[in-house]
Amino acid sequence: MTNPDILVVGCGIVGVSCARALAQRGHRVAVVEAGPHSGAASLVAAGMLAPQAEAAAQDPMLELAVRARDFYVELAPALLEETGIDIGLRTDGILQVAFTEEEVTQRRAEVAWQRQSGFTAEWLSPDEVRERAPGISQDVLGAAFAPEDGSVNPLALLEAMTKSAESSGTTVIRGANVEALVHSDDRVDGVRTSDRTLWAGAVVVAAGAWSGRIGALPRPISVEPIRGQIAALDWPPDEPPAIVYGAGGYVVKRGSAAIAGSTMENVGFDASVTADGLNRVRQVAAQVYPALAHCEIRRSWAGLRPQTPDGHPIIGPDPHLSRLWYATGHGRNGILLAGYTGELLARLHSGETIEHDLSCVTPGRFWSW
Ligand SMILES: Cc1cc2nc3c(=O)[nH]c(=O)nc-3n(C[C@H](O)[C@H](O)[C@H](O)COP(=O)(O)OP(=O)(O)OC[C@H]3O[C@@H](n4cnc5c(N)ncnc54)[C@H](O)[C@@H]3O)c2cc1C
Repeated sequence: MTNPDILVVGCGIVGVSCARALAQRGHRVAVVEAGPHSGAASLVAAGMLAPQAEAAAQDPMLELAVRARDFYVELAPALLEETGIDIGLRTDGILQVAFTEEEVTQRRAEVAWQRQSGFTAEWLSPDEVRERAPGISQDVLGAAFAPEDGSVNPLALLEAMTKSAESSGTTVIRGANVEALVHSDDRVDGVRTSDRTLWAGAVVVAAGAWSGRIGALPRPISVEPIRGQIAALDWPPDEPPAIVYGAGGYVVKRGSAAIAGSTMENVGFDASVTADGLNRVRQVAAQVYPALAHCEIRRSWAGLRPQTPDGHPIIGPDPHLSRLWYATGHGRNGILLAGYTGELLARLHSGETIEHDLSCVTPGRFWSW
């Protein structure tokens, strides 16, 4: 293989999205993947595209996250055409139900703020909630509804994105753990794996929760693993499809399954499933849809979210070391943000103008040295 123009570390959804976007702009791209490591997040995600349901009040990421959600409307048919894989895009809304008066006040305030900011959001009465989700708990006092939020099948997305990156010319190197960057004082020249050095014109760190473990980084990356446990139960018979946030978690219909999640645990790189974690997600499922209370758990998983202190990803060039790029730290929203992250990274790399204010994702925001 001739040396690539750009070498991406990590073949999760963020890495392959960057590879695809860069390769489609004519660059010679290689992606290096160690495993996948146990706990690789893209393999376990629920697949929700939930910029509005996930937005905290006054969240500076909301505009970018909504753009990322809407980008799937172009990306889904493009991936279908390029690969024959349907990523299962749904855009029929997400409900965020309230069980207490305090939650009602909070959710109504979020709806008001999102509407004032120009996004579509509605407050639904308990009867209106039950029109959409008849099997939902009788204790629900109303819901914030984001009609354009939705979901994809994350495994189909990963497969399609990888296949599309490869057919656009990307070389995928599997079974090679990147141990360290190779760089001089002012620029990156490649990476070192256990048995060789791979030279490249630029390197993109997209190694998810493991990004900070790569050796010889110019400074520590503010990304930590946050474990999420998730379980599949049977979707209640005759219940229409829905995605519902509530009771500290969510329930999503995927195929014939009710995917219930998820824990947020600070347990380092331990990606195991625990009885306590599964109890918690089962409680969420049962509180939202009482019919799920006695349903058997068919399958369970755990993954490690790459989490930054402010919950926003790190996208863009290193502030000091040239030819080093970051696309990591996507936390709870890496499926939502992945497609557009690739697009942004490729546009930044080509020096194109970006219409968004990217200060909330800029790599330098955590570092004052
Ligand atoms: C339970 C759960 C539910 C989630 N649900 C949603 C959801 O509904 N919607 C949403 O938007 N997001 C969701 N997320 C978040 C989303 O899954 C992640 O943000 C996203 O998958 C991160 O992708 P990534 O490519 O950065 O990391 P990963 O998918 O973890 O990929 C990183 C890759 O890098 C490789 N790697 C690491 N170190 C090296 C190295 N040194 N050399 C070579 N390769 C290396 C790893 O093996 C891995 O394959 C969820 C996450 C969890 C855990």
